[in-house]
This record gives sequence, C-alpha cells and structure tokens, in this order.
Amino acid sequence: MKNERKFETEAIRTQLERTQFLEHSTPMYLTSSFVFEDAEDMRASFAEEKEHNIYSRYSNPNSSEFIDKVCKMEGAENGFAFASGMAAVFSTFAALLETGDHIVSSKSIFGSTHTLFTQFFPKWNIGTSYFDINNLEAVEELITPNTKIVYAESPTNPGVDILDLEVLGNIAKKHGLIFIIDNCFASPYLQQPIKFGADLVIHSGTKLMDGQGRVLAGITVGNGELIDKIYRFSRITGPSLSPFNAWVLSKSLETLALRVDRHCSNALQLATYLEGHKKIDWVKYPFLKSHPKYEIAKKQMKAGGCVVAFEVKGGVEEGKKFFDAVKLLSLSANLGDSRSIVTHPASTTHSKLTKEERESVGISDGMVRVSVGLEHIEDIIADIEQALG
Ligand SMILES: *Cc1c(COP(=O)(O)O)cnc(C)c1O
Repeated sequence: MKNERKFETEAIRTQLERTQFLEHSTPMYLTSSFVFEDAEDMRASFAEEKEHNIYSRYSNPNSSEFIDKVCKMEGAENGFAFASGMAAVFSTFAALLETGDHIVSSKSIFGSTHTLFTQFFPKWNIGTSYFDINNLEAVEELITPNTKIVYAESPTNPGVDILDLEVLGNIAKKHGLIFIIDNCFASPYLQQPIKFGADLVIHSGTKLMDGQGRVLAGITVGNGELIDKIYRFSRITGPSLSPFNAWVLSKSLETLALRVDRHCSNALQLATYLEGHKKIDWVKYPFLKSHPKYEIAKKQMKAGGCVVAFEVKGGVEEGKKFFDAVKLLSLSANLGDSRSIVTHPASTTHSKLTKEERESVGISDGMVRVSVGLEHIEDIIADIEQALG
C-alpha cells in the first residue's frame, strides 16, 4: 500500500472530494443516474476512456467511498459493493466460474453459502468438494484439473474454529487457484487475509461493518483483474449496493476499530467467566488459551472477535431452558450488532443439517452462540448468569 496512515485514520479520512458546499461530512448521493457535459463527454464515458459515474447500478460516489475505505483496510487493489453479503458471494463466484468448474471449500461456511454451492451451482454444472478445517493436509487430494477456487472462512460460524490462512493460501498458490476468504467474522480490523495469500476477500457488511443491525450490505475486494471481471458481471446483473446503505456503512467504518476493540474485550471477559463455570460443558473463543488453535488465531488475528460459543450442560433441554430465561440478550439471527445476541444453531440456523453433518462442523445439540455486543460487560454476564440459574 502506498499510504502510510494507520487503519483508524484511513477509516475516518478516506472521503469523497468536497462539493462546492464545503460540507465536512460526506453527503448522500441518492441519484440513479449522472449527467454529461456534452455528446463527446458521454461517448467517452461509455467507452470507459474517462472515469465518470454513469448509472448507480455501475457505480455511485457513496459506494465508491465505501469501497475505497475497505480496500485500504484490507490492502486490496479494488472492489465492488453489493446489496447483501450473499449477493457478494454469489456474484463473485458467478463472475469467475464457467460451467464445469470446481470449487474446493471448507465445510465450515455460512449456511446460505453452503446451500448455494450444494443446491444451486450444480444447475450450472459447478461442483464443490468440502474439506475439514482441521485436516488441511487433505485439501490437495480434492483438487481436480477443473478446480478454480479455494474458499474458506475463519473464524468459522458458529463453531468459532480457526483455520490457518497461510497454509491454505500456500496450497492455492502452488496449484494456481484463486483463493477467496469470507472475512466477515473477523472484520478487516482484526484480520487481513490478503497478507496470507488471499486473492479476494468477501464481507457481509451487515455484521460488524454496520455493527448496529440497520442495513444489509456486502463487498468483495482484492486483485484488480479479478475485481474487473466481478464488476463487469455485476453492473449487468444488478446486485449493487444502494447509495443510502453505502453512506451508512462508510460512516459506520469510522468507528469500526473502536467498536471491535470493545466487542473483543467484552467477548474475552465473557469467555473467561464461562470457562470453568459449573453449568457449562465447554467454552470456545479464539483468544482463550484453551482454544485448540490459539496460536494460529494469535498469528493471524489482532483479537478474538465478537462471537463466543459454549455448551450448556444437559444438552437440548437445558439449552432451551437457558434461551427462555434470557432477558437482556436478544434471540435473533444477526451478529456483530451493538446489542448482544444469543442463538441456538442446532434448532435454528443449522436445523436443516443432520445431526452428523452438524457434528462434523462443530455444532453440538446444546451449543449456544453469543454475539457479544457493546452493553456493559457486567450486565451481559449478569443476564447469562441468571439464565443459567
Ligand atoms: C451473514 C453472513 C453472510 C451473508 O451476508 P448477508 O449480508 O446476510 O447476505 C455471509 N458470510 C458470513 C460469514 C456471514 O456471517
């Protein structure tokens, strides 16, 4: 990166040029299209001889500011912003793959991404082989002459397992494959996968980036040539982020570092409190020394993230009682929100998997996932304590 400024500074000072009104904070550009000086200006803009916003399905100043910021945070060359995280995932793969191509993916990925790979991509004869994140030695055996992409997430959802990005990146490079990481659980503040060999990084902006549970968004950043393909596909198919949501997100990123620091310190305090609690079988958090991949987490992340997983003793029954007793924390499907959220993956987000499938991705029946928010940690712990009682 050319720029020497620090993460927090870029998050605040990466901003569109001021208009003639000399506004301090970036205004919203709620416009579907843009005008041209004359016929020649319009011709040259359409011919891409000059950079000019044409239509907000292609580009919009608010989206550009958001993309610019995330590129600086991730150390990426370019990016494209989408209406949701899943629009980013789908469009990235659809833009890069041909019929007959093959994906090698971690088994522990976001549920909708898993469904996309197994239920929809086969329609276009695109196949996926899954590997276990605890067995990266087996990845090379899955690679075929048609393999194009290696895909993974770390930390994983909801099991908060950690995958060694550097090891996987080296395998992808050795075989000339495109290495893509969904970095949504870590956020660009905690982990920059491009440093470990990722060609593209995908985020659901809905989670820690917005951080206040308001908007859906997605973004893909990385290698300029790959992004160009994604841009050409997306400007035609129309999954672009709305300028309003882009504006909200760019503002949110100004406080990403501050917020994520607090999410992480709250989460670590909760995890430490739960460790050894008599009503808990186990607790998992990447920055607890007891986490099986603690050393790898330390190597690739700045802190452990906002998600803590634990198992209430007594399995499903006690788990359900715990959920019914929670008062302050929300029962909701989001994560990375300022409000703490608890979910029970086995009966909700991952209920469509068989018990065996769930266990193979680290989800047990009584497992609870907490997305630790920004409330005072004593109130978060007090609610969990009373619910366990
Ligand atoms: C939420 C999420 C997505 C999907 O994002 P949406 O904005 O909900 O479409 C993708 N990957 C991960 C890891 C997520 O947590």
